[in-house]
Order: sequence, then structure tokens, then C-alpha cells
Amino acid sequence: TIPLAVLVDWLHRFRDAVVTQRDWLTELDSAIGDADHGANMARGMTAAVEKVEQTAPQTADELFKTVGMTLVSTVGGASGPLYGTFFLRIGATLGVVTDVEPSALAAGLRAGLEGIVARGKAEAGDKTLFDAIAPALDALGAALADGKSPAEATAAAAAAAAAGRDATIDLVARKGRASYLGERSAGHMDPGSASATLLFETLAAAVA
Ligand code: ADP
Ligand code: MG
Ligand code: MG
Repeated sequence: TIPLAVLVDWLHRFRDAVVTQRDWLTELDSAIGDADHGANMARGMTAAVEKVEQTAPQTADELFKTVGMTLVSTVGGASGPLYGTFFLRIGATLGVVTDVEPSALAAGLRAGLEGIVARGKAEAGDKTLFDAIAPALDALGAALADGKSPAEATAAAAAAAAAGRDATIDLVARKGRASYLGERSAGHMDPGSASATLLFETLAAAVA
């Protein structure tokens, strides 16, 4: 099983990654959006980790609900409600536990993606964070079904997220601000798919 401390470490690592990559995420968003994705993610995750440190959640449910609610309340852009819903659904799905089975984490992440879809209506190929998260979860599920360890399965998920992120470059955006550009959005990586890849890379690093 995966202890709560590893999940807390994941969120710290994700905070560190979006802070370190803030300028890159903003540069991606300046090409096809409004140049705030790095600031949005860094502000939101900094506030979320601070809240976790203040309240010291004792269960997965409390941990992810704290993160989700903080993101919704501190990030005004599309990414706040979308990542916020993602973490809220993970918390609700994992429930009042302190150790998480890898299969339960996979189910929680899947519920999180369903929350993102319920909110933003993204489909595969719309050039959004969906295009990194969905292949990551498919790879995670397949690796766990294959009997792979949590470390191997999360590493496979991170690689699939990165491939999905890279594939957004050629896509025409059909959701969010980038969709206003129509065909001109092609040729640029989707910023949300880049931050979502950091989410899976840091999960793999925390679990390893
Ligand atoms: P905003 O676009 O409001 O400035 P951000 O720049 O923080 O918000 O986030 C932009 C990212 O949000 C996009 O790169 C895309 O991945 C994601 N996004 C936008 N709209 C949607 C949607 N409807 N469904 C899924 N993801 C979306
Ligand atoms: Mg933006
Ligand atoms: Mg914005």
C-alpha cells in the first residue's frame, strides 16, 4: 500500500515542480492563452501545501479535499476549478483511509478525471490537460493489471502523460481560451497538459 505520507510528499513535489516550471508554463500559455498558467498553478499549489501544513490532514479524504478546495478558492482561471475538482473527487473516492491500495489510487485518479470532464466537457484530442491525464490513467491501469509494482506503474503513467502532452502540439484547440485561436493554436504545446505531466512525474518520483 501507499502511505499517506507518500501522498503528502507527492503534493509537495508537485508544488515544487510548478513553482520551478512557472516561467515555462506561462510561456506556453502566452503562445495560445493569456500567459498566466504558471502563475495560476504556482499560486494555487503554494496555498494548497501551506493549508496542508497548517491543518495536518490525517486521512486521504481530508488531504485531497484540502488541496482541492484551496485550488478552487485561490485560482481564478480555468485550471483552478478543473484541478480543484480533480483533487476533490480523489479525496471523496479514497475516503477515510491512511494507507491507499495502488488500485484504489488508480480509481481515485479516474474519478478525478471524470470530475474534470463533468466540469469542462473536454474530449480526447481537444488539446487540454485531458490529453495528458487520460493516457496516463490508461497506462497506470494497464500496468497494475499486469502485476507491475506501484513504482513501475506510476513511471509508465508519467511516460504516457508526457507522450500525450507532446501530441497536443499538433492539435487544434477545441476547449478553453486556446480554442479562440482556431487553427492558429496548432504548433504549440497545451499548457495544462504540461502541468498535468508534472503531476504524474512527481507522483512517480514520490512513489519510487
Ligand atoms: P485560463 O485559461 O483561464 O487562463 P489557465 O491558463 O490556468 O486558465 O489554464 C489553461 C489550461 O486549462 C489549458 O491549457 C487547458 O489544458 C485547460 N483547460 C481549459 N479549458 C478546459 C476544459 N474545458 N476542459 C479541460 N481542460 C481545460
Ligand atoms: Mg491562462
Ligand atoms: Mg487566465
